Amino acid sequence: MKVLKFGGTSLGSVEGLSNVKTIVEQQREPVVIVVSAMSKITNKLVELAQAATEGDEACCDKLLESVYQRHYKMIGCVLDDKRTARAVRREIRHIVHDKLRAACRRLIDGGLDAKEAENVRNLIITSGEMMSSIMVSVMLHARLEVSTFFIKTHPTPEGDRVSEELTAALIVQRLRNRQEPVIIVQGFVAQDADTLATTTLGRGGSDYTAALIAAALDAKSLEIWTDVDGFMTADPRKSRHAKVIPNMTYGEAQEMCDAGAKVIYPPTIRPVALKNIPVWVKNTFNPMARGTRIADKRDSKLDDVSLTLDEQIKNEKQYKIQWD
Ligand code: ASP
Ligand code: MG
Repeated sequence: MKVLKFGGTSLGSVEGLSNVKTIVEQQREPVVIVVSAMSKITNKLVELAQAATEGDEACCDKLLESVYQRHYKMIGCVLDDKRTARAVRREIRHIVHDKLRAACRRLIDGGLDAKEAENVRNLIITSGEMMSSIMVSVMLHARLEVSTFFIKTHPTPEGDRVSEELTAALIVQRLRNRQEPVIIVQGFVAQDADTLATTTLGRGGSDYTAALIAAALDAKSLEIWTDVDGFMTADPRKSRHAKVIPNMTYGEAQEMCDAGAKVIYPPTIRPVALKNIPVWVKNTFNPMARGTRIADKRDSKLDDVSLTLDEQIKNEKQYKIQWD
């Protein structure tokens, strides 16, 4: 089996979603699909949580409506069957106008202690993944699972951290040996193992969700589907000479992620490296492009340049690691 993760831009346009459909339909083995929220939705939800904390009801109303409208429109574009589209819109409406509104109300009314308020804010900001996963699961006729049943965290002074052993055991229990060819789960969201409060894996954390699942299930590979052709030697928007890096080691990928390359969320590499699971970075909008392969050794057959990664990067005069 394989794990495929689709980022917000892949899910944020009709073109992206129709490519997602084709990519998933072409799979020849069971897959677990991890989805982000549609692009820009998490930012809106962060704003919403902030507005509610500040008691700005008018701003909350505006944001709730805009989150709802974005999903409403997309559902109409990607779900052909009118009755199905109506049912999914009803579900999204319930999440936005009942659940999210009630969560905002709790923050606006105040009286919550710091932990309760944090829990409510996390509920709000992770709801984008819930909504996109519902839409995608219906579009793909696939089974939907809820990540908070198996992605567990515990608090540390540096913030919530994944309880790795427990998480791996629960992923195995929940997702191994399933009969369904396609299972959809939400990235980013997690749950405190003790209090069951909603937590997150940090902004960009859906990649990490996918890596935890791939590692626990000993997946054949992890595919991170995004909107660039792979790791590049430079920011393609700034340098015409930017080239895709065909092949990287886990160490090299980790270094580039830590240095600020936004292609993959840094904690993603470790769980898959420990299990020696190859990671592919692929472009949803250019699925025929080979992408970047990350593994324990660089496969020299796949390198179309004989230079080491360092040399490739040094050759790139305009290279700046801090691109976004
Ligand atoms: N939706 C979340 C974010 O925007 C998580 C993710 O996309 O990986 O940060
Ligand atoms: Mg990302």
